[in-house]
Amino acid sequence: MKEKKGVKLDHISKIYKDPKTGKDFYAVNNISLDIKPGTFVTLLGPSGCGKTTTLRMIAGFESPDAGEIYIGDEAINELTPNKRDTAMVFQSYALFPHYNVFDNVAYGLHLRKLPESEIYERVMKMLDLVELTGMENRLTNQLSGGQQQRVALARALVVEPSVLLFDEPLSNLDAKLRVSMRSEIRRIQQKVGITAIYVTHDQAEAMSISDQIIIMNKGIVEQIGTPQETYYSPKSAFVADFIGQANFIEGHVKHDGVVETGNIEFECNTNGLDTGSPCKIVCRPEGVFIGDEGLLPCEIVYSCFMGAYQNYHVKVGDGIVKIEDYNPKNKKIYQVGDKAYLSFERNTVYAL
Ligand code: ATP
Repeated sequence: MKEKKGVKLDHISKIYKDPKTGKDFYAVNNISLDIKPGTFVTLLGPSGCGKTTTLRMIAGFESPDAGEIYIGDEAINELTPNKRDTAMVFQSYALFPHYNVFDNVAYGLHLRKLPESEIYERVMKMLDLVELTGMENRLTNQLSGGQQQRVALARALVVEPSVLLFDEPLSNLDAKLRVSMRSEIRRIQQKVGITAIYVTHDQAEAMSISDQIIIMNKGIVEQIGTPQETYYSPKSAFVADFIGQANFIEGHVKHDGVVETGNIEFECNTNGLDTGSPCKIVCRPEGVFIGDEGLLPCEIVYSCFMGAYQNYHVKVGDGIVKIEDYNPKNKKIYQVGDKAYLSFERNTVYAL
């Protein structure tokens, strides 16, 4: 079996010219990453943050203006895409419409001039892996979007690259299929044990599929961590708001482990901030509880039944706090204009 390889980016930058202003800007600004062999990492961030540019530099479709990229121990900046030991799965599938499924998957093996018997064996093994056995003779335009993406995945995997790159591969699929395909991709990646780098702007997709999430913003890396780390310990307000929803309450640090807002003190993770410093108290909608008693007085300004939870927006001082109150069936439902109190699950509240 092939040795697994990771990917390193060492101070990588990419400069483009803004077509409107004619000025140069950093699409990717001095980022360094160390992606361990066999892990699934996601580049996540809003439109224009530089994630596709980063992926395309790893694939060799763009060259960095500074820095070096490594696959395993090999520096690859000077290698053309086909020499890089990577394969890419595109949003648009990029299949050959006049080829059948078998020939699409076999394409890269024919280029390598492998014996027909080996090509047959490898293609059939891949079709089995992506659960398309029996579809070999179909033209790809006779397949659903999800099936086409499986063919694209088989075509990428069949050449046994060290690194699999995904550029928003599920964006063209409907919401339900996206959810099932993402667990399929994860299953296959784990089975093959390949290093995977996946670009998306969909945070739920990133959470569900990744070992590590790399959150990008304006060409820089804001945070790298497991889905749990980025959700429970975001390093910035940007990350807190981008991964899930977050409430921000203005306050200040009373002392280590205690914050104060509107003369009300409560315990939370103060993240090493100095005593007396102003802070944002961050809490998730599902970590805020509403009741007739509690810590912070509030007034309900929005109340909506969402099935799994009752969604409230409540006014606290000058700010609004969003709440997701799960399993509302047997709970008191507050209406707009009602007064109530908020309390918090200590472990999920922290200061930034
Ligand atoms: P999206 O989710 O919209 O694809 P992204 O995070 O993948 O966004 P990139 O495609 O990497 O973002 O683009 C980063 C920035 O570089 C954007 O401002 C984009 O407009 C710009 N850009 C990308 N390619 C070029 C190019 N060839 N020439 C000039 N500017 C470019």
